[in-house]
Amino acid sequence: TEKTMDKLVALCKNRGFVFAGSEIYGGLANTWDYGPLGVEMKNNIKRAWWKKFVQENPYNVGLDCAILMNPQTWVASGHLGGFSDPLMDCRECHERFRADKLIEDYCAKTGEELPKPIDAFSQAEMKSFIDEKNICCPTCGKHNFTDIRQFNLMFKTFQGVTEDAKNTVYLRPETAQGIFVNFVNVQRTTRRKLPFGIGQIGKSFRNEITPGNFIFRVREFEQMELEFFCEPGTDLEWFAYWRGFCKQWLLSLGMKEENLRLRDHDPEELCFYSKATTDFEFLFPFGWGELWGVADRTDYDLTQHQNTSGKDLTYFDQEKNTRYIPYVIEPSLGVERSFLAFLADAYDEEVVGQDKRGNDDIRTVLHLHPALAPYKAAVLPLSKKLSPAAEEIYHDLQKEFMVDFDDAGSIGKRYRREDEIGTPYCITVDFQTVGDETTPADHAVTVRDRDTMEQVRIPVSELKAWLAEKLAF
Ligand code: ATP
Repeated sequence: TEKTMDKLVALCKNRGFVFAGSEIYGGLANTWDYGPLGVEMKNNIKRAWWKKFVQENPYNVGLDCAILMNPQTWVASGHLGGFSDPLMDCRECHERFRADKLIEDYCAKTGEELPKPIDAFSQAEMKSFIDEKNICCPTCGKHNFTDIRQFNLMFKTFQGVTEDAKNTVYLRPETAQGIFVNFVNVQRTTRRKLPFGIGQIGKSFRNEITPGNFIFRVREFEQMELEFFCEPGTDLEWFAYWRGFCKQWLLSLGMKEENLRLRDHDPEELCFYSKATTDFEFLFPFGWGELWGVADRTDYDLTQHQNTSGKDLTYFDQEKNTRYIPYVIEPSLGVERSFLAFLADAYDEEVVGQDKRGNDDIRTVLHLHPALAPYKAAVLPLSKKLSPAAEEIYHDLQKEFMVDFDDAGSIGKRYRREDEIGTPYCITVDFQTVGDETTPADHAVTVRDRDTMEQVRIPVSELKAWLAEKLAF
């Protein structure tokens, strides 16, 4: 059976992972709200990142910066000048396109190779390529485009009561700049020596022209970014280190290696300030797409901020008795994109037998890593009569883990419901657990494994420790 975006979207909607934003008002294009299960999974992804990149990491510390920043930040970072997309309209059907994407799609379809990476094309070069190759509008099939114009992707708003230019502020398009402007604050207060890194998780906003593919490209999203500062000359080693560390993080959360590819940028493709960049690409149901960008950004950002602010952003290396601007390695990952990747990776439809008519019996299951699963376990009383005993176990487990409780329907149906939302363990409370006139209580429960569907009997008193061990990440 095929894994399609439609199936993932339907599961997300029906089971309470992701809803269309502002639905009762007809929605707001490309906004999504995370339901009871979605918020758990999102938090689990962020927790898993924070644990490995900050909490357990010998080099890194955390930070949480404001979304609104002094606009000079965006002058320094280049976002007020260059952070824009080349846009073009079809004169026939008035559809709007990104010229670079149109060219990329054309090349993907025809197998034609570009003389240089698309990022190195000027606006005029894109336009003449599109005309030369007679590339047509994907919507109406005609070749009649407007000129290309640049469009700034930053959301603009006003701070204070007057809506004029001097009160204009922007919603940050990345979390990274908050880290750069706080480099000295963090270094001074933590008395860290290089190399060290600063991690941050937070919302970013980009007025994307072509959002879509569900939560893959949205206008409001969260990023998990690390800026790792090191001595110039050691940067390529640290780049390799973080490239490997990031890959390991994904694999340790169960991502299948065959769905992941690390694409190193060729020298011509690199941004002018970058010495090395790797795009981690994931095989989404709609094709390969960027998941994680890891880049050696040299001393570009700190130098820009030093020049624009006039503040000294150098680091004094006591051992070497020299002062320099550190180089920086940046792994930048989107929360929603990784949510979609983990979900797609985990989704499966398995034939688990035959029904009475001899048709395949198919179960939908999310083989999510337990650390990412919304519920760690579900407590299921075999009969409603057992609900009080089951509730007691449920309330006890709830103190440590997100746990579901379900006493409605046949046990088989309840297992299936839990499989579909990725609950790794189903805990069944039966008559033996509590005992009756004929059988003494064994004070144990049956625990069913989501992936193997095997069952083991575990004493209730050992349940918490057993689960904790299984869920460790
Ligand atoms: P793309 O080429 O897909 O637009 P990008 O190269 O602009 O991405 P970066 O600026 O490197 O992306 O952002 C780092 C990470 O943030 C991306 O790898 C992705 O996981 C996430 N991200 C960026 N833009 C979006 C978006 N519009 N929606 C969701 N996640 C995003």
